[in-house]
Amino acid sequence: MEVPRSELQWIDRIQALAARSPVRRGMVLGVGDDCAIFRPRAGEDLVFTTDLLIEDIHFRRTYAPADVGHRALARGLSDIAAMGAAPRFCLLSLATTANTAPRWIDNFFRGLLRLADRTSTVLAGGDLARGHTAITADIVVCGAVARGSALRRDGAGAGDGIYVSGLLGGAALGLEKGPRKGGRAWRRHVVPEPRLALGRSLRGRATACIDLSDGLTLDLHRLALASGLAAEFDAGALPVFPGASEAQALSGGEDYELLFTLPPEARSPRGTTRIGTMRRGIAGRITRNGRAITPAGYDHFSAGTKSAG
Ligand SMILES: [Mg+2]
Repeated sequence: MEVPRSELQWIDRIQALAARSPVRRGMVLGVGDDCAIFRPRAGEDLVFTTDLLIEDIHFRRTYAPADVGHRALARGLSDIAAMGAAPRFCLLSLATTANTAPRWIDNFFRGLLRLADRTSTVLAGGDLARGHTAITADIVVCGAVARGSALRRDGAGAGDGIYVSGLLGGAALGLEKGPRKGGRAWRRHVVPEPRLALGRSLRGRATACIDLSDGLTLDLHRLALASGLAAEFDAGALPVFPGASEAQALSGGEDYELLFTLPPEARSPRGTTRIGTMRRGIAGRITRNGRAITPAGYDHFSAGTKSAG
C-alpha cells in the first residue's frame, strides 16, 4: 500500500475504496465534492441516526482496526434496522491521533466498507482530522422506508407480546472474558450484526421496535415509556447466550438484537423469543416474577458503568 501523506491523498484513497462498491441506489454524487447528493424516491420517508465510537470507551487500540470500522457502522445500522428501514448511505467523520498508523486507518475503512457493501450502504462522504489522544469515529446513517411505515417505540398496545431476536448477554460476556478467552462471545462484542432483514420483515406487523444497545431492561423501559405502558416479563427462561449470566442478558447491553412488540394473537417470527407482555400501568414500569425491577444498562453519564475502557 502506498501511504497517503495528506488529507487530500486520504480522500483519494477512501474514494477509491468506496468506488469499488457497486451500490449506487439514489446516490447522485458521493465522496469528493462539498456535499453528497442523494435523491430519495417518491413515497419514501428517510430516517437518520448518528453514533459516536470513541477509543477506550467503545473500543481499544488492541482491537483489529477492520473490526472497529465494522463496529462504527454496525451500531448505526442497528438503529436503521430498529426502524424497519433499508440503509441508503452513511457519512463518516474520523479523528485520528498523531500515533495512528496509516495502515490502521486503511484497515478501519476496509472493515467499514465491507459491511457497507454487504448491506447496500453507500459511503457518501465524511471528514478526516487529527485529534489529541483518542481515535473518534462519528457516523451518520440514512435509511429509507415506505412513507408512514417506519417502526417506532411508541406504538405498543396493552396485551401485545414482547419479543427479542437472538441470544442476549453475549457481548457483555465477551467484554468480560476478553479476546483470548471470549471466543464467540468476544466476536459478539466486537463485530455485532445489525438485524436489518428482521427489522424490514417486521414492518406492518410489529407495533413498536427498538434495538438493544444499552441493555434489555433499559431499552424495554424506553419502549414502554414511549408507548405509555408497563411491561411484564413472562415466566420462563430468557434467550441467554451460552455462558452468559442472566444479569448480562438483562442489562449487559451492546447485543444489537431487536426488541419489539406484536399484537396479542401473533406468532414469534423465526429466530425470536417471546419474553413478556405489555400491560396497562405506570408507563415504563417493568416487572419480573411479580416484582418491579429497576431498569439497568449502559449509561455514559452515570458512574460505575463498564466499558471497553
Ligand atoms: Mg437505538
